[in-house]
Amino acid sequence: MTLLLNRPDLMRSNNFINGQWCNSISEARYPVQNPATGEAFTTVANSTDADARAATAAAHAAFDGWRQQPAAVRAQFLKRWHALILEHTEDLARLISYEQGKPLAEARGEVAYGASYVDWFASEAVRTYGDIIPAPVSSKKLMVVKGPVGVVAAITPWNFPLAMIARKIAPALAAGCTVVAKPAEDTPLTALALVALAQEAGLPAGVLNIVTSSREQVSNVVGAWLDDSRVRKITFTGSTAVGKLLARESAATLKRLSLELGGNAPFIVFEDADLDAAVEGLMAAKFRNGGQTCVSPNRIYVQEAVYDAFAAKLVARVQSLRVGPGDHPDSQIGPMINARAVDKIEHHVQDALSQGATLLTGGQRLSEGVTNGPHYYAPTVLGDASHTMELAQDETFGPVAPLFRFRDETEVVEAANDTPYGLAGYFYSRDISRIWRLIDQLQTGIVGINEGALASESAPFGGVKESGYGREGSRYGLDDYMETKYLCQGNLA
Ligand code: NAD
Repeated sequence: MTLLLNRPDLMRSNNFINGQWCNSISEARYPVQNPATGEAFTTVANSTDADARAATAAAHAAFDGWRQQPAAVRAQFLKRWHALILEHTEDLARLISYEQGKPLAEARGEVAYGASYVDWFASEAVRTYGDIIPAPVSSKKLMVVKGPVGVVAAITPWNFPLAMIARKIAPALAAGCTVVAKPAEDTPLTALALVALAQEAGLPAGVLNIVTSSREQVSNVVGAWLDDSRVRKITFTGSTAVGKLLARESAATLKRLSLELGGNAPFIVFEDADLDAAVEGLMAAKFRNGGQTCVSPNRIYVQEAVYDAFAAKLVARVQSLRVGPGDHPDSQIGPMINARAVDKIEHHVQDALSQGATLLTGGQRLSEGVTNGPHYYAPTVLGDASHTMELAQDETFGPVAPLFRFRDETEVVEAANDTPYGLAGYFYSRDISRIWRLIDQLQTGIVGINEGALASESAPFGGVKESGYGREGSRYGLDDYMETKYLCQGNLA
């Protein structure tokens, strides 16, 4: 498997600060691995706090110029960037697939999905309306205007190397903010290519800056942003543990925060559901990206009367999934991102089996044939799962579907909400009254009702409880990057 690009110059390996591509000031590098083989194939800058501060200085210096541009000018830039992303779909998809592992067809879908946020916020940029408020006295006029929050630090995970960073940079730039970004250490190349295309689209120097760093250096880099009062907002997607750390550490300078954190999504199949639709919805939600998705169902509750029929249909579908390298045309599930990820999956499955779960299919690493690499795991269905198992408490982030049996609605709602997390929840039912009861009772920011594919640039994506706060996408998404300024003019005759 080799990485061939139509535009080899999109494969960048340095930081981009103040309009210049540059190595880390320390000149340190770290290796990037192909998850299909576990082999390092290139190196990128291993940045330190000094690089992070240089990025902040550039973003701070560029802020006034960018925010004062008419919104239509910022929108034009986003439109050009959007066109370039689509024009280079194939190269971006190859980069995603090569560094993250997902099948090429899925990677192409991610490019389209990430690009849709750029397009969306190009249109939203010119709609950041204010308000006129009826004044309580005739001598005053009360008004509200919206303005950008300032320099934004964007920190992203590896599971969607393009979409996660695009859906932060696009609203930030649309609002008039400038950006310092740090992609996940496992998947820096897609983000760097995206920034190269932003440069090509004519973005002024300093408006968008990106630094890469290894896991060992990350607290150093992000720490420099947390400590700096010029950084006014952190937008983060990743684990709840790191999200909480960012909330604590940014308190000294009271930064705005958007936190898109971990989930533990329930997927409920009631006895009145269309079982075939529920199986298809689960296949899309659970096995996309090999289950490495924050809205991926982690606990699948099936009502007693349909449990056996649902399990049989699901197992048949899961057994038909083809696992293999991302560039293999037949692959539907690629390798997991790294050794840590496969170890966690294996541990969750072993723990569940030792506590009485039944193995319905899968349940082991794959290391033969096209899956001859260290990070493949078989699509797995477990029966008779229970709440004491680790996989019920913590997202597995892999292709493992554990089935929990339930008796009635009250019991399942209580079980579904019995988690500190609250990102997505799904249920399948044809009972209209039940549907509205569940909508009201599920403690999640996103609810899938007879639907497994939820994400859209036109909808607000985000969680409640320890899945974080803030929303990405839709008209709500821009507010996260804007301040509300109240104007009161007095002494009017
Ligand atoms: P992670 O929290 O380990 O890493 C995410 C980012 O944080 C990376 O860029 C990483 O370098 C950085 N980071 C790690 N340690 C840090 C520290 N001490 N200080 C500052 N930054 C640090 O998460 P991950 O394992 O890479 O990603 C998977 C997680 O992301 C899962 O929990 C998943 O549910 C979540 N996720 C959430 C959403 C959402 O929209 N809610 C979307 C995708 C993924």
